[in-house]
Amino acid sequence: MSRLSEVASLTIPAIREGLVNKRFSAVEVAQAALSFAERENSATNAYLTFSPERALAAAARVDEEIAKGEYVGTLAGVPVAIKDVIMTKGLRSTCGSRILENYVPPYDATAVYRMEAEGAVLIGKTNCDEFAMGSSNENSAFGPVRNPRALDRVPGGSSGGSAAVVAQGTAVVSLGSDTGGSIRQPAGFCGVVGVTPTYGRVSRYGLAAFASSLDHIGPFSRTVEDAATVLRVIAGRDDLDSTSAFAPVDDYHTLMKEPALGMKVGLPKEYFEGLGADTGKLIGAAVKELEKLGCEVREISLPHTQYALSCYYIVATAEASSNLARYDGVRYTSRSDGDTLTAMYRNTRGCGFGPEVKRRIMLGTYVLSAGYHDAYYRKAQQVRTLITQDFTRAFEEVDVIVAPVSPFPAFKIGEKVDDPLAMYLSDIYTLTADLSGVPAMSVPCGESPEGLPVGLQIFAKHFDEAAMFRVAYNYEQATAR
Ligand code: GLN
Repeated sequence: MSRLSEVASLTIPAIREGLVNKRFSAVEVAQAALSFAERENSATNAYLTFSPERALAAAARVDEEIAKGEYVGTLAGVPVAIKDVIMTKGLRSTCGSRILENYVPPYDATAVYRMEAEGAVLIGKTNCDEFAMGSSNENSAFGPVRNPRALDRVPGGSSGGSAAVVAQGTAVVSLGSDTGGSIRQPAGFCGVVGVTPTYGRVSRYGLAAFASSLDHIGPFSRTVEDAATVLRVIAGRDDLDSTSAFAPVDDYHTLMKEPALGMKVGLPKEYFEGLGADTGKLIGAAVKELEKLGCEVREISLPHTQYALSCYYIVATAEASSNLARYDGVRYTSRSDGDTLTAMYRNTRGCGFGPEVKRRIMLGTYVLSAGYHDAYYRKAQQVRTLITQDFTRAFEEVDVIVAPVSPFPAFKIGEKVDDPLAMYLSDIYTLTADLSGVPAMSVPCGESPEGLPVGLQIFAKHFDEAAMFRVAYNYEQATAR
């Protein structure tokens, strides 16, 4: 690596080619990625922790395997970054929260374990909204992340750090988590690929729970192919997560390279209301491109979309209020003392959690309380079923659904912090995939006149990630400059 920024143009196949042909070693790539990441971090604040020892040891192992002519893993020598809500053994995992500031997990998340087993080089942990609650990364206890494409703007959230490091090129791929849009929305804002797999496709073991029935782990990358590669590595049944699916993992690489000719693409009319003009134009152009590729595009309806936001903020907060009860100074987290047990809890949680997390715990506790459970929580679960049925019905007619990721591109840091409801609207188009469990991804589809990236969202049937990759890959190849 003669120049550090060379890392920024690498992809998984390019690294493999370079290693096998001895153009560079894995240790050289790791060193370049680490120095580049450390240098860039003063501008973006995308990493919370670096892991040079772990990275260099993994890279040295890869170099040794290559020298001995042994099996070279799918992710051999690939610099990766992991969102800080995903546990890494012996490496601080804060969840973006003061309450876990010094937490060092005694185990690895299954997704991390599987990536490292294939030779991935973990260079650091990425900044995120506290417990993945947010759409701008401004809810992190460790300061906001800046969008590498426009430093005065947010990178999106909650996986803002993981999107930013791939956009700036300090990691080749990264992992994020998505509960209501936290992979696709930041991918869209930063101009990279982001994939939310089918619920249950990837083990959640080692992902700090926000809302367990909505949480997903998924990859960020600069190419569709790299995202498919990472998904294949991390996907599949894991006995440590009883909700992980037995469904076989397809050979995405073969399937996505089939032409998109004849694929049926649905445009849900509800996703085009309230769309910003710049975003609307770019999505329109992308749809034209799909038609040129031979896709049959037709308008469809997902009629319960208008209830998604209210439904999500009831289900997600209800589950969060229960999941976050464990951070109490007894079972987890450092303790702030108090004269009584209640005072100890109050001091620990009161000082440890930020305002957005407290707001969600309050809201979730309220919707689950005896007098309101039926009116809110139960109702929301019923609405969730209607939203899922919308997708089931639509997928009887079409192979994939295409829509915007967000109504607008990346906004300015500070622009929406005082208005939680305006902030919640950033995810209006992404929530339905999480509520219904279908897979969805964001793929870059151009830039606004101000030079801000915009993402195209592609949804597919449960466990049919291959169809979504096929459309995304063909679109990416057709529009590559
Ligand atoms: N922005 C949404 C929220 O704040 C989604 C977060 C996520 O997907 N983790 O809940």
